[in-house]
Parts: sequence; structure tokens; C-alpha cells
Amino acid sequence: MVSCLRQFEEGSLAMIGVIANPTELAVVREFFELFKTPWEFCRSDRKYEVLVCATDSNFNKNAAKVLLIYGGQKLTFDSEENIDIASQRKGNRVLSYNGTGIPIYGDCVTFRGEGGFLRDQESQLPAIRLRQSSEMVVARIGYNLFGEVRALLTAGQPAANAAIPALELHIAVLRDLIVMSGVSLTEIPPVPDGYRFIACLTHDVDHPSIRLHKFDHTMFGFLYRAILGSLCNVVCGRMSFHNLLINWAAAVKVPFVHLGIARDFWYEFDSYTKLEKGLRSSFFVIPFKGRPGRTGSGPAPSRRASPYGANEIAEHVRKLMSAGCEIGLHGIDAWFESTEGREELEEIRRITGKSDIGVRMHWLYFREQTPGTLEKAGANYDSTVGYNETVGYRAGTTQAYKPLEANQLLELPLHIMDTALFFPGHLHLFPKEASKRVGAIIDNAVRFGGVVTVNWHDRSIAPERLWGDFYLQLIDELKNKGAWIATAAEAVSWFRKRRSATFEGLGGELTAEIGADLPGLRLIVHTRGKAPQDSLINGAVSGLARPSLDTK
Ligand SMILES: [Zn+2]
Repeated sequence: MVSCLRQFEEGSLAMIGVIANPTELAVVREFFELFKTPWEFCRSDRKYEVLVCATDSNFNKNAAKVLLIYGGQKLTFDSEENIDIASQRKGNRVLSYNGTGIPIYGDCVTFRGEGGFLRDQESQLPAIRLRQSSEMVVARIGYNLFGEVRALLTAGQPAANAAIPALELHIAVLRDLIVMSGVSLTEIPPVPDGYRFIACLTHDVDHPSIRLHKFDHTMFGFLYRAILGSLCNVVCGRMSFHNLLINWAAAVKVPFVHLGIARDFWYEFDSYTKLEKGLRSSFFVIPFKGRPGRTGSGPAPSRRASPYGANEIAEHVRKLMSAGCEIGLHGIDAWFESTEGREELEEIRRITGKSDIGVRMHWLYFREQTPGTLEKAGANYDSTVGYNETVGYRAGTTQAYKPLEANQLLELPLHIMDTALFFPGHLHLFPKEASKRVGAIIDNAVRFGGVVTVNWHDRSIAPERLWGDFYLQLIDELKNKGAWIATAAEAVSWFRKRRSATFEGLGGELTAEIGADLPGLRLIVHTRGKAPQDSLINGAVSGLARPSLDTK
């Protein structure tokens, strides 16, 4: 990969200059952590290969070879260049990008005229205007890129758009525009060296023992689903007859479990380590029993209270840790108050003896301020941003990101949850349909890189759910498609390592802090009409990684 090195040596790294609204600076910075390519806020004394302009201000139109102007409203530029706006709308617009839909949540304009690989799906009018000459390429794109990124990273996507990795598509559009314009683009993709993407197997520990449920909604719910629900599932082809017998036998056993005669079949969630065969997963455990916690407006429903506290499963916790698994906090009120968060984290620290603790909130409670609250409480990362009712991309991304609220804390988005796939109140899928859904998520990870975060609850491999077979297939699929299977904490560390990489100036020295025992970073050069050139950023030189000749 000599040509890649030469790029560095000759100082021809394509540099993107960015002009943005002062209110969007944090969003721009985060966007370019996810699209890791050389960029800076535009300096008036410099000429750029690419200028991305996302504000209606005056700028030097000759300051770049490629000028990309984003805006969802009519701009001064449109008047100056006689660009006709066909329509303007706020939200509810889906653009078709080479056949893939990209939802636009803010203002969006379409243009009169022909052409464009970006079109309004409904009217088929172009949402891009391209003008090319021998000196430069100018593209006017009809939405506000950084406004969209902000919407995705804060409010997130409605469940109806869950299947769309919108943020990755925005990156793809920008990358394609730059490369198609004839500028070579360098980037560090969200792909660990040696793999195609990352997968995190996680387990929320909500019900680690059926013995703790006497005559409560959980026990009656179990009996109802094990006896009648299973029968219905067999009749309509969701469950095998064999599993029906297992569930009926489990239902009969319940009184004996309470008497201490039969084994507690929910108390065996540590058998995940056998199922996962040495792959290390992450378990989020509830710190205190009997606390329902609160919603945004008052006390949470009493059934949110856990029948156990982490202390009571300390023996399991130790076993899991000795198998290399990670223990995180399944938080109660940490999402709302940092004092409670601190107390909850402290309990998990006390039991695990570890200082860096990650969080996923029970029932996925979350609000816009949560990242800041968790950071203040001392959490290492959060992995709550996902859906209860469906699977996919709430924040539109396959990557761990830094919420705009936070300084340090990273969010490892949650993509696939067992209960969302199979509960009657949620997607209620047949195993075959569920495979298709998760297959699409894995295919996106292969295409865009990033991570697939899976949540398979503690009791999901036990009666009455018996979702172990599906889980095993899912693990096989992840492995076959090239996943690096890591704990949530390791995945977050890898993303931190990638974030620490910097492109030092146009002269082109690339540096990254080395993450101990983590897969390396790769550098890709995209050039029009050529296959991307890929090299490993390798070797520690006084604590810094440098581009090397070591290639694959
Ligand atoms: Zn939970």
C-alpha cells in the first residue's frame, strides 16, 4: 500500500473545510468522529479540496475544488445561482438515495429540473443540484446535514423508521459526493482490524430466580404463558411440541421450586457462558431490590421494582466475571438523578471490585439530559438508546457516539432486543421473520461497519420463553459475517481508540493512542474509479500509532 503512504508524504490528504452555524459546532465535531476523515472549521486563509457549507452565509465560492452546500430552506446562494426551489417541507420527507430511503426530519427542499441521485420518494423531484466544470464541482443538497445529525442524536427516530441507519446514510452520501467529484478521501472506518464489524452480546438481568416470585404478576404471567400461551404458539407454528412439553413440565414444577425441592430454572442464567462457548458477554444487573424508581413525572409502576438486588446474586456475578464476562449496572433512577446514579454505580463497584462500570437502564428509561446525568454519576458508558417495541437504529447509527450532552461518556446504541422481536405486544415475529429482521441489521453492519448490540434477557433461554435456539443462530450469523464479538466495555474502548486518532495537518501524520489488546485501526483511501485502498495503522512508536507499510 505504498500509494497510501505516498499520499501522506506528498501532503495531498484531502482536507474538508466546514462552515456551520455557531450553534451546531458540537454536532459537526461529533459527525466527524463518526465519519473519521481529515476536516477542520473553515479558515479564511486556506484553500480546501472540499468545502462543506451548512449555513446561509457569505463565503468564498472559489475556496475549494468541491463545494457542497447543505440547506433545507431557500438560501442566498440559490438566488445568486438562479436555482429554482420546487417545494419546501419540514419533516415527513423520505429521500431516495440510489434506491435506499433516507428520512429527513427537519426542513427539506426539492429543486426544479432533472437528474440527481437523491430524490424525494413521493414527488420524484431532485433534492440535489449538481454543477460541474473543469475547475470545480458544486452540489446544492436540499437539507441541513448537521440539523439532521442533531435530530438523530437527540430526539432519535420514530419506531416506524427504526430499520434505517439514517446517520450512516448521510455519511455515505457525503463520501460519495466527494469521491465522485474526483477528490481522494482518506478515512478511518468504524471497522476493527481483522473483522467486518463489532458485535456485543448483552443480558439485562431482570428475573434471575422464579423463587423470588410468589403470587405476583410475574409468576402468574409465567404460568399463563407456559400453559396456554405455549399451546397457542404450537398451534400457530411458533413453537415446537418438544418445547411445549418443557414448558408444561416447568409449570408443574413451580410449587416444588418454591418448596426448595426442584431446581430454580431461572436461576441458571449463568449457563449463558456455556451457550456462548467462551465468547464473553455483558450482564447488566439491578443494584437494589424493591425499588420501582421514578418516571419523568412521578413514581414508576410498582412492577418495575426488582425482586432481587445485585448483592443476592453475588455468587453468580463472581462466576460470570471469572469466565471473562462484564458486569454493568441495570439502573433504576440513574437516568434521572446523578446522586441516585452514583449510589447505584457504587453498589455494582462494591460487588465487582471494578471501577469502570457501564450502564443500561431498566425498561430503557431515558431522557435528553440522561447522558449528562450518567456522566456526572461516574458511568463509563451507556447502552440504553434503543427501542422497547422494535429493533433497529433509534439514533440512526451503527456506531458508538458521544451524546451532545456529554463530555466523555459514550453511547453504545442497542439494536436487537429479544422481547421486541417476540412479545405479542411488540413485533410478535415468527422465528423466520425475526431472522430476516436481524439479518438486515447484520448486513448493515457489514456494509457500514460499527456495532450490533444485542440484548437477550437473563430468563430468555429458560422456560417459558426458550429463545436459546434463536440466540445460538444469531451468534452463528454474527460470527459468519465477520463480527469481532466483544464485551460492551471493550467495544466502547475500541471506539474511544478510534476517536483518539488524529490527522495531523495536511502534511499527513496520523496518530492514535494505542488501546491495549484491542484490534487495530485501518486507514482507507477512496479514489474515483478505483477499489478503496486499505492499510493497517500499526505499531507503537512512543505511544503513538503511525501509518505503516503493513498491509492486508
Ligand atoms: Zn430491565
